[in-house]
Parts: sequence; structure tokens; C-alpha cells
Amino acid sequence: MRCLSCRRFSATLVCPKCRELYLRPYPRIRRLDTGLEVLSFYAYDEIEPFLLTKHLPHGWFVYRILAREAFSVLEKAQEGLAAIPVDDDASGGYSHTALLARELKRYGYRPRFASLRARNRVSYAGQPLAFRLANPRDFLYEGPKKIRAVLIDDIVTSGLTLQEAQGALLRAGVTVHSAIVLADADR
Ligand SMILES: [Zn+2]
Repeated sequence: MRCLSCRRFSATLVCPKCRELYLRPYPRIRRLDTGLEVLSFYAYDEIEPFLLTKHLPHGWFVYRILAREAFSVLEKAQEGLAAIPVDDDASGGYSHTALLARELKRYGYRPRFASLRARNRVSYAGQPLAFRLANPRDFLYEGPKKIRAVLIDDIVTSGLTLQEAQGALLRAGVTVHSAIVLADADR
């Protein structure tokens, strides 16, 4: 096959040279208004072409490559820490947030799949902040209570979705340790 990025022949979808050039992770923490700390590994702009494959047939493979490169800098998770993917709905063929949570297993996180669902999935793409505020995700949490968890998403933009998810978990008695995302649009 050919490398998705440089088009040279490669054994994998993104060749080792392009991984080194474009996918070397630079971890950074952004603190949202609620105090939630969001760990990201890339600036959104830097890896946008890779992120835009999300809904394409090979998106699953690209996301797995992104996850493995990004998480390679992680330490082992604290004992018993759950990984809760944000709205891991697989109606698009696969869930990118579930894929990320699954990749975190090797670092000791315990994925809690299908526990945090959005009741409102209206698209935020290209919408202003006012629209996002007027159309909250309305999360429903049906997982175990009295656990400690990190929220998992692929991209953080305004941070509204993560903060809303944090609120839903807190109301359910879950202690939200932090959030882990691949890319931050604000860095
Ligand atoms: Zn390449």
C-alpha cells in the first residue's frame, strides 16, 4: 500500500518517516473553566488531514495509528482508573472514542464502553459558540457509580462537550480525574 501522507510505498497506512515527522506527540494540559484538566498530544491543525479520515473506510486504521503514537508517552494509569469514552456510538461503522479507550487498556485504564451517551447529536461543525451553548449534548450516564474516571474524546474545541460530560458524571457520583484527547484545537 501507499503511505496516506507522502504516497510512498509503505507496509502501513502511515509510513515510519511520516510518523516521525508528523505524529510525534507533544503532551500538553489545558484547564477548562470547570477545572477539568485536558491532556492532548497534538495541535488540531498539525494532524487535521489524519483526523479528517474519521468517517472514511480506513479511518479506523488511521485512528488506531494516532492513538498508538500519542499514547506512547503515557505512564501507567493509577490503579482502578476507568476510561469513559464520550458518546461511543458506533452508528458510523465504528466508534472513534471507544477505539481510543480500548487503546488505553495497555496503560492500565479500564474502559467503560457505552456508558455515556449523548441524547442530542446535532452537529457542531462550523457552528458558533452560541449554537453549541443552545444545543447541549444532554448526556445520560448509565455506568457504575463511585468510580474514578478519565473522559476520552478525540478532539477538544471549546471544551463545552467535555465539561457537560463531566457534569453528567459528577451528578452520577463519578469522580472525574481528567480528560484525554488526541488533539486540541486551541493550541
Ligand atoms: Zn509517509
